[in-house]
Amino acid sequence: MPVTNGSQFSNGVDVPPNFRVAIVGGGIGGLTVALSIAKYCPGLTAKNISVYEQAAAYTEIGAGISIGISASQVLKKLGVYDAIDKISGHRTSVHRSNHRWDTDEVIVDAPASNSGTQQEEVRQLWLHRAEFLDVLYNEVKRRNCASLETRKRVISLEDRDTSVTIRFADGTEASANLVIGCDGIHSAVRSQFLVDKPVYSGRIAFRGIIPMSAVANDWPYSSWTLSWLAPGKHFLAFGMSQNKLMNVVAFVAKPENELHGLKESWRSEAPRKAIEEEYAGWCPAVQRIIQAMPPVISEWKINDREVLSQWVYMDGKVVLSGDAAHAMLPMQGSGAGLSIEDANILGFAVRDYLSNPDRGLSSYMLQYQAARIHRAQKAQVTSRQAAAVYDMHGPDFEGKSFEECLPVVRDKVQSRMAWLWKVDLEADWAAAKESREVQQQ
Ligand SMILES: Cc1cc2nc3c(=O)[nH]c(=O)nc-3n(C[C@H](O)[C@H](O)[C@H](O)COP(=O)(O)OP(=O)(O)OC[C@H]3O[C@@H](n4cnc5c(N)ncnc54)[C@H](O)[C@@H]3O)c2cc1C
Repeated sequence: MPVTNGSQFSNGVDVPPNFRVAIVGGGIGGLTVALSIAKYCPGLTAKNISVYEQAAAYTEIGAGISIGISASQVLKKLGVYDAIDKISGHRTSVHRSNHRWDTDEVIVDAPASNSGTQQEEVRQLWLHRAEFLDVLYNEVKRRNCASLETRKRVISLEDRDTSVTIRFADGTEASANLVIGCDGIHSAVRSQFLVDKPVYSGRIAFRGIIPMSAVANDWPYSSWTLSWLAPGKHFLAFGMSQNKLMNVVAFVAKPENELHGLKESWRSEAPRKAIEEEYAGWCPAVQRIIQAMPPVISEWKINDREVLSQWVYMDGKVVLSGDAAHAMLPMQGSGAGLSIEDANILGFAVRDYLSNPDRGLSSYMLQYQAARIHRAQKAQVTSRQAAAVYDMHGPDFEGKSFEECLPVVRDKVQSRMAWLWKVDLEADWAAAKESREVQQQ
């Protein structure tokens, strides 16, 4: 049902003047959704779009994140790619060089991918999360395209026919015609409709940042993105911040009963000694990186969520996006990229709703779900498979020695990211319109 009668804006699109969008969560996904809706719906202003972030400021942790080609293309469309490209790390034509944990010999080099015509060309990005979020935040501020609220932890939603009442932990309320849940793996928006919980992956991760200068003078590799693999453990390092810094993530398989209360939290810490012990005996390059890490590093429990078949609730007035919809294991480095792609499609969905509201908000939001859900579900499933490949665990590796595992790893790593990096979001949006899920509404 249309919200109110439309009024004509200068871009020719009818915008119901009181149409309000609430984006819950101001992380990478939430801020990109704000930029995308602003781009595709220029009739909407900061009076129409609000981001509600629970924290006291829009910040990210000091850790690295890689962004695939398809998400880079979205960032280009949203006008932030050049600024983000400038803060990225760089590597060679190798996306990720995978080595043996003991002898340091190459197991397999996974090729990098760039894209597009020369004019459109974008590359994969290797970013410091806090620097990345700063670019997104500053762009929303610069364009004044959304109001950016802080200390607004959403605790509940109530259906009010053509709008939703949003309640915050501080006792205040807001109202919106469309609520987009971008509030991450522990999403409060998702928990309004579902009782599922994050699932432990059987792995923890140590994380830290080192100055690139600590290793750059003795770096005999074909890439700045390397991993070293052993059964049950793998160690990943890549350059970020124009290669001034190196991001380090080291995964260790661990049964849940050995976690001793370890939390899935950006702020959970461990002494460097813990990673030294887990990686004792690994090749000298790994030892040099570990010794350059600070005395206190972070240690995390790695979780994901089960695949979800519904992202649209309250007759299309509430939708899920990013980790709230499809939290996945980090082994393919794709969760944030998919949240950026979601944002692009949500921009199309709100644009098309505003230009033809008679079809009903629900129909456009189901079209968003149809355009995105199968790709996201596949990424969730294949991220679990990738975790098993890098750890040499599961049916493909059962009963095999380390040496026998290596050809299997080689086979499964080489081109596993190709489908994830290639997506035509415009075509997916058009195809979703024809899909049964949307037609049935
Ligand atoms: C170890 C690790 C490595 C990773 N590496 C990569 C990588 O290299 N590449 C990649 O693409 N992805 C990677 N990911 C995944 C990536 O971090 C997530 O997919 C991405 O951060 C999801 O973005 P989001 O905005 O949906 O959620 P989040 O980043 O979790 O942001 C959610 C936001 O919502 C806010 N919030 C939460 N609850 C509420 C509430 N109730 N009310 C208001 N605000 C709320 C939070 O404070 C936060 O700001 C990695 C993940 C992990 C764990």
